[in-house]
Amino acid sequence: MLEIRGLKTHFATDAGWLHAVDGVDLTVNRGETVCVVGESGCGKSVTAMSVLKLLPMPPGRIAAGQILWQGRDLVTLPESEMRRIRAKQIAIVFQEPMTSLNPVYTVGQQIAEVLRLQEGLNRSDAMDRAVEMLRLVNIPTPERRVRDYPHQFSGGMRQRVMIAMALSCNPQLLIADEPTTALDVTIQAQILELLAELKARLGMSILLITHAMGVVAEVAQRVIVMYAGKVIEEATVEQLFANPRHPYTQGLIRSIPRIDLAATHKVRLEAIAGTVPKLINPPEGCRFAPRCKYASAACTAETPMLREIEPGHKVACIL
Ligand code: SF4
Ligand code: MG
Repeated sequence: MLEIRGLKTHFATDAGWLHAVDGVDLTVNRGETVCVVGESGCGKSVTAMSVLKLLPMPPGRIAAGQILWQGRDLVTLPESEMRRIRAKQIAIVFQEPMTSLNPVYTVGQQIAEVLRLQEGLNRSDAMDRAVEMLRLVNIPTPERRVRDYPHQFSGGMRQRVMIAMALSCNPQLLIADEPTTALDVTIQAQILELLAELKARLGMSILLITHAMGVVAEVAQRVIVMYAGKVIEEATVEQLFANPRHPYTQGLIRSIPRIDLAATHKVRLEAIAGTVPKLINPPEGCRFAPRCKYASAACTAETPMLREIEPGHKVACIL
């Protein structure tokens, strides 16, 4: 359904072009949940924003590649068509729902506005659908809540409202960029559960962006691991957790807290030392090399290509 090929997204900075996304391939099939995981600054959000063409351009620009949505290349699509796709086909929810909701309108007015604009519903039909949408995302007493303002909802409930709004025009793909990061853990789990439930009911695909491997384990079918603007490993969730091959992925998995061992063992969580490299004129070779305990001279000589090592499992590491 979505096929990104060789995407490069650059930003103009005073120090030169920042290669935020540097040759990313990514596919989302119908009905599939794909997670993009990596530390902040690795290009996950920029990839998502490139798909929707929501990047500030300039300073951002899609320098190369194709973003095929049901066979049409979004990179070259005019903004008027893009707007229709954003509203009705590919929807997005962000990390901080408070900044995406308008504080001076009720949540019902905001959802209804989308429906009036996009589906041409009249005021009262749109309001009825808004109530239905709030019910869909399990907000109690939706007939009453529809008249409340964003500040009258808790963080978790606000994220439900955002999901309701995103789904109001029946998109085929929902992009969720760190949808639970601002929430506390129990609420996080409820939102992830809600997404899984909605996906099963509505049959949409989900592209979920997260820095947390725990979230990946919870919801993903397929996983794309990004590092410094590149995809460094891709696998099914089972392959990735049973047999992570890239040293960076191995580090991410070791950084997940193990509740099962915590009671009986003193387990030290491992952090990956160092930080993501600067992406202005990045050097040749593996970008993880400065942080990799297996790095050798061969690693910096040329950039490792993403290679398939078993069906569905690709890794970019010379080892
Ligand atoms: Fe480490 Fe070399 Fe593999 Fe990069 S290519 S992850 S530096 S072993
Ligand atoms: Mg981000």
